[in-house]
Amino acid sequence: MKVSVVKETAPGERRVAIVPEAVAKLRSAGLEVLVQSGAGDGAWHTDDSYADAGATVVSRADALAADVVLMVGKPDSAAVSVLHPGQVVIGLLAPLTDPDLTAALAAAGVTAVSMDMIPRTLPRAQPMDALSSQANIAGYKAALLGAAQFGRFFPLLITAAGTARPAKVLVLGTGVAGLQAIGTARRLGAVVSAYDVRPETRTEAESVGATINELTSVGPAAGEGGYARALTEDERMAQQQELAGHIARHDVVITTAQVPGRRPPLLVTEDALKSMTPGSVVVDMGASTLGGNVAGSVPGETVLTESGVAVIGASGLPSSMAAAASAMYARNISALLLYLISEGELALDRDDELQAGVVITSGGAIVHPALTAVAGQPAQAGAASSPASSPHPPDQPGNQPDGGAPRAVPRSAR
Ligand code: NAD
Repeated sequence: MKVSVVKETAPGERRVAIVPEAVAKLRSAGLEVLVQSGAGDGAWHTDDSYADAGATVVSRADALAADVVLMVGKPDSAAVSVLHPGQVVIGLLAPLTDPDLTAALAAAGVTAVSMDMIPRTLPRAQPMDALSSQANIAGYKAALLGAAQFGRFFPLLITAAGTARPAKVLVLGTGVAGLQAIGTARRLGAVVSAYDVRPETRTEAESVGATINELTSVGPAAGEGGYARALTEDERMAQQQELAGHIARHDVVITTAQVPGRRPPLLVTEDALKSMTPGSVVVDMGASTLGGNVAGSVPGETVLTESGVAVIGASGLPSSMAAAASAMYARNISALLLYLISEGELALDRDDELQAGVVITSGGAIVHPALTAVAGQPAQAGAASSPASSPHPPDQPGNQPDGGAPRAVPRSAR
């Protein structure tokens, strides 16, 4: 069976789905590995390094004709137009936010496997959890960006020229990315506090070195599958108001809050930004074209407010560490691919909870119940609808800002 790796085409995307180190693993499972020429350039893997690992370097057309096509993100429309029935495509396909792509893959007769639909709480799915591996990288990089932008030190420094007090960092949202941001800021010497709307995250946040900021105005808001639920309008306003007091006392704020299937909640308002000391920094990991966790953040840009606060629209962070992100993603996607094959051939079993979670199209139809509900099509037998398979919708940890209409995501996917 031929398995290929294509070059990513999304703007600014530097990651590659398989690194040379992973090629041998796939070959030892009886797979022939094809790599599109230049696919690894952005992550510093040359064609020669893939060839040395036993892969065949091919054109894009040949890569897109393989039995199984591996990618980090989604196929562009040109790629979809040349795919043929029976092929398998595996990537972070974001089907909850891109129903048109799902429909096009179904129409092409492609078996689409979406890495971001993996039931993350299944123990056997842990090695395949690309959302977590990429969120870890994003959290780490967010803390570094905050430190690099901040005009003072993170650690306490006592020198002959004076004493620098440690920076006070606040992390909002303590999921995978938030915990990594806390740990990284702590290792840099900052004094870190944190807040999450799910109180059950408290122990984990404390264990990586944060003190917890409690809010009295908002109660616990755990949703399904270990995620947060969207707050009501009243809760949201109360939260923003109370958070503003905490935000004003910090030098650097890193926001990571997400609610699956919804726009990221707005946590840092314009008034909260105004209350911060000039020179403070806010890193918005939820930044997207429609907004994010922070008022006025622009994805990929650093905006300086009139009151002198730098707001970093921290989108695409995993891609900014393409070598590490690709190495981790390659392990995730290899583990999933090897799980889906038997004796060198694909052996799909949608009665298996994990497989039912990731396979979104098959046999010319959309087969995932979370998506068939949106497409107005009955779910097919063998497809599971567990809360565990209710991950983030989008291409990264982050989708759209709060305050607007929720996405067309069925309740089972929230
Ligand atoms: P996420 O990216 O969906 O959200 C990040 C954090 O934002 C969450 O902790 C969430 O509670 C918080 N948040 C949402 N709205 C908020 C608001 N209005 N105010 C403050 N905080 C808000 O989360 P994630 O990183 O994908 O992880 C979700 C959970 O799943 C975590 O508890 C994580 O530990 C768990 N998880 C478990 C496994 C596993 O069981 N192996 C694997 C991956 C993740």
